[in-house]
Amino acid sequence: MAMDLSADFLQRRAANFRPMTPVQFLRRAADVFPDRTAVIHGDIKYTWREHERRCRMLASALKRNGVGNGDIIAILCPNTPAMLEAHFGVPMAGAILNTLNTRLDAAAIAFILDHSETKVLIVDRQWSEVAKAALSRMKIRPFVIDIDDPYAEGGELIGNLDYEEFLKGGDSTEDVVWPADEFDAITLNYTSGTTGNPKGALYHHRGCYLNTLSQIVHHQLSSDSVYLWTLPMFHVNGWCFSWGVAAIGGTHVCLRRVLPAEIFEAIDRYGVTHMCGAPTVLGMLIEGAAKTGITLSQPVAIMTAGAAPPAPILKATEELGFMVRHVYGMTEVHGVAALCDWHRDWNSMPPEQRSKQMARQGVRTVVTDDMIVADPTTLEPLPHDGTTIGEILFRGNNGMKGYLKNPTATDEAFAGGWYRTGDLAVTHPDGYIEIKDRSKDIIISGGENISSIEIEEVVFQHPSVSYAAAVAVKDDRWGETPCVFIELKEGHEGKVTTDEMLEFCRARLAKFKLPRKFIFGPIERTSTGKVQKFKLRDKAQSA
Ligand code: AMP
Repeated sequence: MAMDLSADFLQRRAANFRPMTPVQFLRRAADVFPDRTAVIHGDIKYTWREHERRCRMLASALKRNGVGNGDIIAILCPNTPAMLEAHFGVPMAGAILNTLNTRLDAAAIAFILDHSETKVLIVDRQWSEVAKAALSRMKIRPFVIDIDDPYAEGGELIGNLDYEEFLKGGDSTEDVVWPADEFDAITLNYTSGTTGNPKGALYHHRGCYLNTLSQIVHHQLSSDSVYLWTLPMFHVNGWCFSWGVAAIGGTHVCLRRVLPAEIFEAIDRYGVTHMCGAPTVLGMLIEGAAKTGITLSQPVAIMTAGAAPPAPILKATEELGFMVRHVYGMTEVHGVAALCDWHRDWNSMPPEQRSKQMARQGVRTVVTDDMIVADPTTLEPLPHDGTTIGEILFRGNNGMKGYLKNPTATDEAFAGGWYRTGDLAVTHPDGYIEIKDRSKDIIISGGENISSIEIEEVVFQHPSVSYAAAVAVKDDRWGETPCVFIELKEGHEGKVTTDEMLEFCRARLAKFKLPRKFIFGPIERTSTGKVQKFKLRDKAQSA
Protein backbone atom coordinates (compact mmCIF):
# COMPACT_ATOMS: atom_id res chain seq x y z
CA MET A 1 0.00 0.00 0.00
CA ALA A 2 1.27 3.48 -0.84
CA MET A 3 2.39 5.63 2.06
CA ASP A 4 -0.07 8.36 3.14
CA LEU A 5 1.65 11.69 2.57
CA SER A 6 -1.52 13.71 2.85
CA ALA A 7 -1.61 13.76 6.67
CA ASP A 8 -1.96 17.17 8.32
CA PHE A 9 1.46 17.11 9.95
CA LEU A 10 3.11 16.92 6.49
CA GLN A 11 1.36 20.02 5.14
CA ARG A 12 2.72 23.55 4.77
CA ARG A 13 3.36 25.46 7.95
CA ALA A 14 4.95 28.71 9.00
CA ALA A 15 8.33 27.03 9.46
CA ASN A 16 8.60 25.43 6.02
CA PHE A 17 6.55 27.51 3.66
CA ARG A 18 7.00 31.27 3.47
CA PRO A 19 6.06 33.58 0.64
CA MET A 20 9.14 34.09 -1.52
CA THR A 21 10.15 37.74 -1.81
CA PRO A 22 13.37 39.43 -2.94
CA VAL A 23 12.93 41.88 -0.04
CA GLN A 24 14.37 39.14 2.21
CA PHE A 25 17.74 39.55 0.46
CA LEU A 26 18.24 42.99 2.00
CA ARG A 27 17.65 41.74 5.54
CA ARG A 28 20.29 39.04 5.03
CA ALA A 29 22.86 41.44 3.54
CA ALA A 30 22.42 43.77 6.52
CA ASP A 31 22.82 40.83 8.95
CA VAL A 32 25.79 39.19 7.25
CA PHE A 33 27.72 42.13 5.74
CA PRO A 34 26.64 45.13 7.89
CA ASP A 35 29.85 47.11 7.36
CA ARG A 36 30.55 46.24 3.76
CA THR A 37 29.91 48.98 1.19
CA ALA A 38 26.51 48.38 -0.36
CA VAL A 39 26.10 51.51 -2.50
CA ILE A 40 28.57 53.94 -4.03
CA HIS A 41 27.33 57.15 -5.63
CA GLY A 42 30.21 59.57 -6.23
CA ASP A 43 31.31 60.65 -2.75
CA ILE A 44 28.24 59.13 -1.12
CA LYS A 45 28.65 55.64 0.32
CA TYR A 46 26.27 53.45 2.32
CA THR A 47 27.06 50.18 4.07
CA TRP A 48 24.51 47.38 3.98
CA ARG A 49 23.43 48.36 7.51
CA GLU A 50 22.89 51.97 6.43
CA HIS A 51 21.23 51.01 3.17
CA GLU A 52 18.77 48.71 4.95
CA ARG A 53 18.06 51.41 7.51
CA ARG A 54 17.23 53.93 4.77
CA CYS A 55 14.95 51.42 3.00
CA ARG A 56 13.12 50.75 6.27
CA MET A 57 12.74 54.49 6.89
CA LEU A 58 11.28 54.92 3.41
CA ALA A 59 8.80 52.08 4.06
CA SER A 60 7.79 53.53 7.40
CA ALA A 61 7.46 57.08 6.04
CA LEU A 62 5.26 55.83 3.20
CA LYS A 63 2.99 54.03 5.64
CA ARG A 64 2.79 57.08 7.90
CA ASN A 65 1.66 59.04 4.87
CA GLY A 66 -1.25 56.72 4.25
CA VAL A 67 0.34 54.35 1.74
CA GLY A 68 -0.91 50.81 2.10
CA ASN A 69 -1.36 47.49 0.40
CA GLY A 70 -1.49 47.63 -3.37
CA ASP A 71 -0.87 51.40 -3.69
CA ILE A 72 1.32 52.42 -6.61
CA ILE A 73 4.45 54.46 -5.92
CA ALA A 74 6.13 55.78 -9.07
CA ILE A 75 9.72 56.93 -9.38
CA LEU A 76 11.30 59.01 -12.14
CA CYS A 77 14.98 58.83 -11.50
CA PRO A 78 18.30 57.66 -13.00
CA ASN A 79 20.46 54.96 -11.38
CA THR A 80 21.00 56.49 -7.94
CA PRO A 81 20.72 55.30 -4.30
CA ALA A 82 17.11 56.50 -4.08
CA MET A 83 16.19 54.20 -6.96
CA LEU A 84 17.72 51.23 -5.12
CA GLU A 85 16.01 52.22 -1.88
CA ALA A 86 12.65 52.34 -3.68
CA HIS A 87 13.11 48.71 -4.83
CA PHE A 88 13.02 47.61 -1.18
CA GLY A 89 11.32 50.42 0.72
CA VAL A 90 8.19 50.47 -1.44
CA PRO A 91 7.35 46.73 -1.18
CA MET A 92 8.33 46.87 2.53
CA ALA A 93 5.35 49.23 2.92
CA GLY A 94 3.14 46.72 1.11
CA ALA A 95 3.03 48.98 -1.95
CA ILE A 96 3.93 48.43 -5.61
CA LEU A 97 6.86 50.20 -7.28
CA ASN A 98 6.40 51.66 -10.75
CA THR A 99 9.74 52.71 -12.26
CA LEU A 100 9.28 55.26 -15.06
CA ASN A 101 11.41 55.32 -18.18
CA THR A 102 13.44 58.54 -17.96
CA ARG A 103 13.20 59.08 -21.72
CA LEU A 104 9.41 59.32 -21.78
CA ASP A 105 7.70 62.58 -22.67
CA ALA A 106 5.18 64.34 -20.42
CA ALA A 107 2.15 62.85 -22.21
CA ALA A 108 3.36 59.27 -21.78
CA ILE A 109 4.27 59.84 -18.11
CA ALA A 110 0.87 61.43 -17.45
CA PHE A 111 -0.86 58.47 -19.11
CA ILE A 112 1.06 55.95 -16.98
CA LEU A 113 0.54 57.82 -13.70
CA ASP A 114 -3.19 58.26 -14.34
CA HIS A 115 -3.61 54.70 -15.57
CA SER A 116 -1.87 53.23 -12.52
CA GLU A 117 -3.66 55.65 -10.12
CA THR A 118 -0.29 56.54 -8.64
CA LYS A 119 -0.44 57.61 -4.97
CA VAL A 120 3.10 58.99 -4.66
CA LEU A 121 5.54 60.21 -7.30
CA ILE A 122 9.24 60.45 -6.41
CA VAL A 123 11.18 62.66 -8.85
CA ASP A 124 14.88 63.35 -9.34
CA ARG A 125 15.46 67.12 -9.63
CA GLN A 126 16.91 66.77 -13.16
CA TRP A 127 13.55 65.36 -14.37
CA SER A 128 11.44 68.08 -12.73
CA GLU A 129 10.50 69.82 -15.97
CA VAL A 130 8.97 66.77 -17.63
CA ALA A 131 7.39 65.69 -14.33
CA LYS A 132 5.81 69.11 -13.87
CA ALA A 133 4.44 69.05 -17.41
CA ALA A 134 3.05 65.55 -16.83
CA LEU A 135 1.43 66.57 -13.52
CA SER A 136 -0.24 69.58 -15.16
CA ARG A 137 -2.10 67.34 -17.61
CA MET A 138 -3.05 64.54 -15.19
CA LYS A 139 -6.47 63.73 -13.77
CA ILE A 140 -5.18 62.42 -10.44
CA ARG A 141 -3.01 64.31 -7.91
CA PRO A 142 -0.22 62.17 -6.46
CA PHE A 143 1.86 63.30 -3.47
CA VAL A 144 5.19 64.43 -4.98
CA ILE A 145 8.60 63.92 -3.36
CA ASP A 146 11.76 65.61 -4.74
CA ILE A 147 15.11 63.84 -4.78
CA ASP A 148 17.67 66.65 -4.55
CA ASP A 149 20.63 64.51 -5.67
CA PRO A 150 23.86 66.56 -5.40
CA TYR A 151 24.90 65.16 -8.80
CA ALA A 152 21.67 66.14 -10.60
CA GLU A 153 22.11 68.75 -13.32
CA GLY A 154 19.65 71.64 -13.31
CA GLY A 155 15.94 71.34 -12.64
CA GLU A 156 13.98 72.58 -9.64
CA LEU A 157 12.16 71.25 -6.64
CA ILE A 158 8.51 70.80 -7.59
CA GLY A 159 7.21 68.47 -4.90
CA ASN A 160 5.47 68.58 -1.55
CA LEU A 161 8.57 67.42 0.31
CA ASP A 162 12.28 66.68 -0.06
CA TYR A 163 13.21 62.95 -0.14
CA GLU A 164 15.70 63.18 2.76
CA GLU A 165 13.12 65.05 4.86
CA PHE A 166 10.54 62.43 3.95
CA LEU A 167 12.86 59.61 5.12
CA LYS A 168 13.39 61.40 8.43
CA GLY A 169 9.66 61.07 9.05
CA GLY A 170 10.03 57.28 9.06
CA ASP A 171 11.16 54.94 11.82
CA SER A 172 13.66 52.25 10.83
CA THR A 173 12.56 49.98 13.67
CA GLU A 174 8.98 49.75 12.48
CA ASP A 175 7.74 46.37 11.24
CA VAL A 176 8.12 45.58 7.57
CA VAL A 177 5.03 44.51 5.62
CA TRP A 178 5.80 41.06 4.22
CA PRO A 179 3.64 39.77 1.38
CA ALA A 180 0.73 37.62 2.53
CA ASP A 181 1.06 35.62 -0.66
CA GLU A 182 4.12 35.28 -2.88
CA PHE A 183 1.94 35.93 -5.93
CA ASP A 184 1.12 39.43 -4.59
CA ALA A 185 2.30 42.30 -6.79
CA ILE A 186 5.68 43.89 -6.08
CA THR A 187 6.42 46.07 -9.10
CA LEU A 188 4.76 47.47 -12.20
CA ASN A 189 6.73 47.83 -15.42
CA TYR A 190 5.16 49.56 -18.40
CA THR A 191 6.11 48.23 -21.83
CA SER A 192 7.57 50.63 -24.35
CA GLY A 193 4.20 50.91 -26.13
CA THR A 194 5.55 50.95 -29.66
CA THR A 195 2.08 50.16 -31.02
CA GLY A 196 -0.22 52.22 -28.85
CA ASN A 197 -0.57 53.02 -25.17
CA PRO A 198 1.96 51.25 -22.96
CA LYS A 199 0.75 48.23 -21.00
CA GLY A 200 1.60 47.86 -17.31
CA ALA A 201 3.11 44.43 -16.58
CA LEU A 202 2.52 43.56 -12.91
CA TYR A 203 5.26 41.45 -11.32
CA HIS A 204 4.87 39.12 -8.35
CA HIS A 205 7.23 38.59 -5.40
CA ARG A 206 7.71 34.93 -6.35
CA GLY A 207 8.80 35.68 -9.92
CA CYS A 208 11.17 38.45 -8.84
CA TYR A 209 12.68 36.24 -6.12
CA LEU A 210 13.27 33.36 -8.53
CA ASN A 211 14.48 35.47 -11.43
CA THR A 212 16.89 37.32 -9.15
CA LEU A 213 18.47 34.00 -8.14
CA SER A 214 18.54 32.90 -11.77
CA GLN A 215 20.36 36.09 -12.74
CA ILE A 216 22.96 35.50 -10.02
CA VAL A 217 23.55 31.96 -11.30
CA HIS A 218 23.83 32.93 -14.94
CA HIS A 219 25.85 36.15 -14.50
CA GLN A 220 27.95 34.32 -11.88
CA LEU A 221 27.85 36.90 -9.09
CA SER A 222 29.46 36.30 -5.71
CA SER A 223 29.88 38.29 -2.50
CA ASP A 224 32.98 39.91 -4.02
CA SER A 225 31.04 41.25 -7.00
CA VAL A 226 31.03 44.96 -7.74
CA TYR A 227 28.10 45.79 -10.00
CA LEU A 228 28.14 48.92 -12.17
CA TRP A 229 24.76 50.39 -13.13
CA THR A 230 25.05 50.80 -16.91
CA LEU A 231 21.58 49.31 -17.44
CA PRO A 232 18.68 51.63 -16.59
CA MET A 233 17.17 50.38 -13.35
CA PHE A 234 13.77 51.53 -14.58
CA HIS A 235 13.93 48.80 -17.24
CA VAL A 236 12.52 45.60 -15.77
CA ASN A 237 13.93 46.52 -12.33
CA GLY A 238 17.44 46.45 -13.74
CA TRP A 239 16.96 42.82 -14.89
CA CYS A 240 16.51 41.98 -11.17
CA PHE A 241 20.04 43.08 -10.18
CA SER A 242 18.44 45.84 -8.06
CA TRP A 243 17.65 42.93 -5.67
CA GLY A 244 20.41 40.56 -6.81
CA VAL A 245 23.35 42.57 -5.49
CA ALA A 246 21.72 42.48 -2.04
CA ALA A 247 21.24 38.71 -2.28
CA ILE A 248 25.00 38.19 -2.52
CA GLY A 249 26.05 41.17 -0.39
CA GLY A 250 28.06 42.73 -3.21
CA THR A 251 28.47 46.42 -4.02
CA HIS A 252 26.34 48.65 -6.26
CA VAL A 253 28.12 51.42 -8.17
CA CYS A 254 25.54 54.01 -9.26
CA LEU A 255 25.85 55.92 -12.51
CA ARG A 256 23.66 58.82 -13.58
CA ARG A 257 24.96 58.93 -17.15
CA VAL A 258 25.98 56.06 -19.38
CA LEU A 259 29.03 57.51 -21.09
CA PRO A 260 32.16 55.54 -22.08
CA ALA A 261 34.64 57.73 -20.16
CA GLU A 262 32.60 57.50 -16.94
CA ILE A 263 32.12 53.75 -17.35
CA PHE A 264 35.83 53.01 -17.89
CA GLU A 265 36.74 55.28 -15.00
CA ALA A 266 34.28 53.57 -12.65
CA ILE A 267 35.51 50.12 -13.69
CA ASP A 268 39.05 51.12 -12.87
CA ARG A 269 38.35 53.05 -9.67
CA TYR A 270 35.95 50.60 -7.99
CA GLY A 271 37.16 47.28 -9.41
CA VAL A 272 33.87 46.62 -11.19
CA THR A 273 33.30 42.93 -11.94
CA HIS A 274 29.82 42.89 -13.46
CA MET A 275 27.55 45.09 -15.55
CA CYS A 276 24.73 44.86 -18.10
CA GLY A 277 23.69 46.79 -21.16
CA ALA A 278 21.87 46.68 -24.47
CA PRO A 279 23.99 46.03 -27.60
CA THR A 280 24.02 49.82 -28.14
CA VAL A 281 25.97 50.15 -24.89
CA LEU A 282 28.48 47.59 -26.20
CA GLY A 283 28.77 49.63 -29.41
CA MET A 284 29.35 52.78 -27.36
CA LEU A 285 32.09 51.11 -25.30
CA ILE A 286 33.83 49.88 -28.46
CA GLU A 287 33.76 53.34 -30.04
CA GLY A 288 34.79 55.02 -26.78
CA ALA A 289 37.75 52.67 -26.38
CA ALA A 290 38.80 53.14 -30.01
CA LYS A 291 38.79 56.92 -29.59
CA THR A 292 40.68 57.07 -26.33
CA GLY A 293 42.80 53.92 -26.49
CA ILE A 294 41.46 52.90 -23.05
CA THR A 295 41.74 49.23 -22.13
CA LEU A 296 40.22 47.34 -19.23
CA SER A 297 42.34 47.00 -16.12
CA GLN A 298 40.68 43.65 -15.29
CA PRO A 299 38.11 41.41 -17.00
CA VAL A 300 34.50 42.52 -16.55
CA ALA A 301 31.48 40.31 -17.19
CA ILE A 302 28.83 42.08 -19.22
CA MET A 303 25.33 40.72 -19.75
CA THR A 304 23.66 41.97 -22.90
CA ALA A 305 20.08 41.83 -24.25
CA GLY A 306 17.29 44.08 -25.40
CA ALA A 307 17.96 43.64 -29.09
CA ALA A 308 19.81 41.10 -31.21
CA PRO A 309 23.52 41.80 -30.68
CA PRO A 310 25.33 41.68 -34.03
CA ALA A 311 28.17 39.12 -34.03
CA PRO A 312 30.85 41.76 -34.93
CA ILE A 313 29.82 43.80 -31.86
CA LEU A 314 30.14 40.74 -29.61
CA LYS A 315 33.56 40.00 -31.06
CA ALA A 316 34.84 43.55 -30.59
CA THR A 317 33.47 43.66 -27.01
CA GLU A 318 35.34 40.47 -26.13
CA GLU A 319 38.48 41.87 -27.70
CA LEU A 320 38.22 44.82 -25.30
CA GLY A 321 38.49 42.37 -22.39
CA PHE A 322 34.81 41.92 -21.49
CA MET A 323 33.31 38.49 -20.86
CA VAL A 324 30.06 38.68 -22.76
CA ARG A 325 26.92 36.88 -21.58
CA HIS A 326 24.17 37.11 -24.16
CA VAL A 327 20.69 36.76 -22.67
CA TYR A 328 17.16 37.19 -23.98
CA GLY A 329 13.82 38.09 -22.48
CA MET A 330 11.21 40.76 -22.16
CA THR A 331 9.24 42.85 -19.71
CA GLU A 332 6.50 40.22 -19.36
CA VAL A 333 8.84 37.48 -18.04
CA HIS A 334 10.61 39.53 -15.36
CA GLY A 335 13.37 40.41 -17.85
CA VAL A 336 15.70 37.57 -18.66
CA ALA A 337 14.29 34.11 -19.46
CA ALA A 338 16.87 32.63 -21.87
CA LEU A 339 20.59 32.81 -22.48
CA CYS A 340 23.26 31.62 -24.85
CA ASP A 341 24.62 29.23 -22.20
CA TRP A 342 28.27 28.74 -23.08
CA HIS A 343 29.97 25.39 -23.74
CA ARG A 344 33.67 25.30 -22.89
CA ASP A 345 34.63 23.63 -26.17
CA TRP A 346 33.22 26.62 -28.10
CA ASN A 347 36.22 28.59 -26.83
CA SER A 348 38.42 26.95 -29.43
CA MET A 349 36.25 28.14 -32.32
CA PRO A 350 37.73 30.70 -34.71
CA PRO A 351 36.71 34.22 -33.52
CA GLU A 352 34.11 34.83 -36.27
CA GLN A 353 32.36 31.52 -35.63
CA ARG A 354 32.57 32.01 -31.86
CA SER A 355 30.79 35.37 -32.01
CA LYS A 356 28.12 33.94 -34.34
CA GLN A 357 27.59 31.17 -31.84
CA MET A 358 27.28 33.74 -29.07
CA ALA A 359 24.79 35.86 -31.04
CA ARG A 360 22.19 33.09 -30.69
CA GLN A 361 19.55 33.70 -28.00
CA GLY A 362 20.08 30.15 -26.75
CA VAL A 363 18.20 28.10 -24.20
CA ARG A 364 15.93 28.60 -21.18
CA THR A 365 17.32 29.84 -17.86
CA VAL A 366 17.18 27.74 -14.67
CA VAL A 367 13.80 29.19 -13.66
CA THR A 368 12.13 29.05 -17.07
CA ASP A 369 10.35 25.70 -17.25
CA ASP A 370 9.96 25.65 -21.02
CA MET A 371 10.88 27.67 -24.07
CA ILE A 372 9.88 26.43 -27.51
CA VAL A 373 9.76 27.74 -31.04
CA ALA A 374 6.28 26.78 -32.22
CA ASP A 375 3.76 27.20 -34.96
CA PRO A 376 1.87 30.33 -33.81
CA THR A 377 -1.52 28.83 -34.69
CA THR A 378 -1.26 25.22 -33.49
CA LEU A 379 1.42 25.91 -30.80
CA GLU A 380 3.12 22.68 -31.93
CA PRO A 381 6.93 22.75 -31.59
CA LEU A 382 8.77 23.09 -34.91
CA PRO A 383 11.73 20.99 -36.09
CA HIS A 384 15.21 21.77 -34.76
CA ASP A 385 16.60 22.33 -38.25
CA GLY A 386 17.96 25.86 -38.07
CA THR A 387 15.61 27.01 -40.83
CA THR A 388 11.94 26.64 -39.84
CA ILE A 389 10.76 29.92 -38.36
CA GLY A 390 8.13 30.02 -35.60
CA GLU A 391 7.13 32.03 -32.52
CA ILE A 392 9.05 31.77 -29.25
CA LEU A 393 6.82 30.66 -26.35
CA PHE A 394 7.71 30.61 -22.65
CA ARG A 395 6.20 29.12 -19.51
CA GLY A 396 7.50 29.09 -15.97
CA ASN A 397 7.34 30.95 -12.68
CA ASN A 398 8.83 34.09 -14.15
CA GLY A 399 5.74 35.13 -16.09
CA MET A 400 4.13 38.41 -14.99
CA LYS A 401 0.78 38.36 -13.14
CA GLY A 402 -0.77 40.18 -16.10
CA TYR A 403 -1.28 43.66 -17.51
CA LEU A 404 -2.85 46.13 -15.07
CA LYS A 405 -6.56 46.74 -15.87
CA ASN A 406 -6.19 44.94 -19.20
CA PRO A 407 -7.81 41.47 -19.18
CA THR A 408 -7.99 41.24 -22.98
CA ALA A 409 -4.30 41.86 -23.58
CA THR A 410 -3.41 39.53 -20.67
CA ASP A 411 -5.52 36.69 -22.06
CA GLU A 412 -4.00 37.21 -25.51
CA ALA A 413 -0.45 37.21 -24.11
CA PHE A 414 -1.03 33.94 -22.22
CA ALA A 415 -3.31 32.23 -24.76
CA GLY A 416 -2.84 28.46 -25.01
CA GLY A 417 -0.96 28.10 -21.73
CA TRP A 418 2.15 29.89 -22.94
CA TYR A 419 3.49 33.42 -22.91
CA ARG A 420 3.39 34.50 -26.54
CA THR A 421 6.51 36.57 -27.20
CA GLY A 422 5.77 37.77 -30.73
CA ASP A 423 9.44 37.04 -31.50
CA LEU A 424 10.24 34.79 -34.45
CA ALA A 425 13.12 32.33 -34.32
CA VAL A 426 14.57 29.06 -35.55
CA THR A 427 15.86 26.24 -33.36
CA HIS A 428 19.26 24.81 -34.30
CA PRO A 429 19.95 21.07 -34.09
CA ASP A 430 21.69 21.57 -30.71
CA GLY A 431 18.44 23.04 -29.26
CA TYR A 432 19.68 26.65 -29.22
CA ILE A 433 17.28 29.20 -30.65
CA GLU A 434 18.20 32.14 -32.86
CA ILE A 435 15.86 35.11 -33.28
CA LYS A 436 15.12 36.15 -36.84
CA ASP A 437 12.69 38.98 -36.17
CA ARG A 438 9.76 40.41 -34.28
CA SER A 439 6.63 39.08 -35.97
CA LYS A 440 5.63 42.61 -36.89
CA ASP A 441 9.09 43.50 -38.25
CA ILE A 442 9.67 40.58 -40.60
CA ILE A 443 9.82 41.66 -44.25
CA ILE A 444 7.68 39.65 -46.65
CA SER A 445 8.83 40.06 -50.23
CA GLY A 446 7.22 38.10 -53.06
CA GLY A 447 5.76 35.76 -50.42
CA GLU A 448 9.22 35.00 -48.94
CA ASN A 449 10.16 35.88 -45.35
CA ILE A 450 13.24 38.07 -45.03
CA SER A 451 14.75 38.46 -41.58
CA SER A 452 15.55 42.11 -40.91
CA ILE A 453 18.18 40.90 -38.42
CA GLU A 454 19.97 38.90 -41.13
CA ILE A 455 20.25 42.02 -43.31
CA GLU A 456 21.45 44.09 -40.34
CA GLU A 457 24.12 41.46 -39.53
CA VAL A 458 25.49 41.78 -43.08
CA VAL A 459 25.48 45.59 -43.15
CA PHE A 460 27.19 45.61 -39.73
CA GLN A 461 30.15 43.75 -41.20
CA HIS A 462 31.02 46.84 -43.29
CA PRO A 463 33.95 48.52 -41.54
CA SER A 464 32.37 52.00 -41.68
CA VAL A 465 29.02 51.04 -40.16
CA SER A 466 28.30 51.66 -36.50
CA TYR A 467 24.58 50.81 -36.49
CA ALA A 468 22.00 49.44 -38.95
CA ALA A 469 18.25 48.83 -38.95
CA ALA A 470 16.31 47.15 -41.76
CA VAL A 471 12.58 47.67 -42.30
CA ALA A 472 9.94 46.85 -44.90
CA VAL A 473 8.82 49.36 -47.51
CA LYS A 474 5.59 48.75 -49.44
CA ASP A 475 6.19 47.73 -53.03
CA ASP A 476 3.58 47.33 -55.80
CA ARG A 477 5.27 44.32 -57.32
CA TRP A 478 6.77 42.44 -54.35
CA GLY A 479 4.43 43.47 -51.55
CA GLU A 480 7.40 44.64 -49.45
CA THR A 481 11.11 45.20 -50.04
CA PRO A 482 13.89 45.86 -47.52
CA CYS A 483 15.18 49.36 -46.74
CA VAL A 484 18.21 49.83 -44.47
CA PHE A 485 18.94 52.79 -42.23
CA ILE A 486 22.67 53.16 -41.58
CA GLU A 487 24.60 55.12 -38.97
CA LEU A 488 28.25 55.51 -39.97
CA LYS A 489 31.16 55.59 -37.55
CA GLU A 490 32.57 58.98 -36.64
CA GLY A 491 34.83 60.24 -39.44
CA HIS A 492 33.20 57.97 -42.04
CA GLU A 493 30.15 60.19 -42.69
CA GLY A 494 29.69 61.02 -46.37
CA LYS A 495 32.39 58.56 -47.40
CA VAL A 496 30.18 55.53 -48.15
CA THR A 497 27.83 55.51 -51.14
CA THR A 498 24.61 53.63 -51.74
CA ASP A 499 26.27 51.75 -54.65
CA GLU A 500 29.11 50.60 -52.41
CA MET A 501 26.68 49.33 -49.77
CA LEU A 502 24.63 47.56 -52.41
CA GLU A 503 27.72 45.79 -53.78
CA PHE A 504 28.74 44.87 -50.23
CA CYS A 505 25.31 43.31 -49.60
CA ARG A 506 25.18 41.64 -53.03
CA ALA A 507 28.29 39.64 -52.16
CA ARG A 508 26.71 38.41 -48.91
CA LEU A 509 22.93 38.14 -49.34
CA ALA A 510 20.56 36.21 -51.60
CA LYS A 511 19.20 38.40 -54.40
CA PHE A 512 15.63 38.58 -53.07
CA LYS A 513 16.94 39.83 -49.71
CA LEU A 514 18.91 42.74 -51.18
CA PRO A 515 17.88 46.13 -49.75
CA ARG A 516 16.32 48.41 -52.36
CA LYS A 517 17.00 51.57 -50.39
CA PHE A 518 19.77 52.78 -48.06
CA ILE A 519 19.18 55.80 -45.83
CA PHE A 520 22.23 57.26 -44.05
CA GLY A 521 21.87 59.25 -40.81
CA PRO A 522 21.14 58.92 -37.08
CA ILE A 523 18.77 56.13 -36.06
CA GLU A 524 16.42 56.99 -33.23
CA ARG A 525 16.55 54.49 -30.37
CA THR A 526 14.79 54.19 -27.03
CA SER A 527 16.75 54.38 -23.79
CA THR A 528 16.72 50.59 -23.68
CA GLY A 529 18.46 50.38 -27.05
CA LYS A 530 15.44 49.51 -29.15
CA VAL A 531 15.00 50.92 -32.60
CA GLN A 532 11.49 52.15 -33.13
CA LYS A 533 10.94 50.34 -36.41
CA PHE A 534 7.40 51.62 -36.86
CA LYS A 535 8.85 55.14 -37.07
CA LEU A 536 11.54 54.01 -39.52
CA ARG A 537 8.92 52.30 -41.69
CA ASP A 538 7.01 55.61 -41.98
CA LYS A 539 10.24 57.44 -42.78
CA ALA A 540 11.29 54.86 -45.36
CA GLN A 541 7.87 54.96 -47.00
CA SER A 542 7.97 58.71 -47.44
CA ALA A 543 11.67 58.86 -48.42
P1 AMP B 1 11.38 44.70 -23.52
O1 AMP B 1 10.09 44.15 -23.04
O2 AMP B 1 11.36 46.19 -23.71
O3 AMP B 1 12.53 44.24 -22.69
O4 AMP B 1 11.62 44.13 -24.98
C1 AMP B 1 11.64 42.75 -25.21
C2 AMP B 1 11.94 42.49 -26.65
O5 AMP B 1 13.27 42.89 -26.99
C3 AMP B 1 11.87 41.02 -27.00
O6 AMP B 1 10.55 40.57 -27.22
C4 AMP B 1 12.75 40.97 -28.24
O7 AMP B 1 12.02 41.37 -29.38
C5 AMP B 1 13.82 42.01 -27.93
N1 AMP B 1 15.00 41.36 -27.36
C6 AMP B 1 15.38 41.29 -26.08
N2 AMP B 1 16.53 40.62 -25.94
C7 AMP B 1 16.91 40.23 -27.17
C8 AMP B 1 18.00 39.49 -27.69
N3 AMP B 1 18.95 39.02 -26.90
N4 AMP B 1 18.03 39.26 -29.02
C9 AMP B 1 17.05 39.73 -29.83
N5 AMP B 1 16.00 40.45 -29.41
C10 AMP B 1 15.92 40.70 -28.09
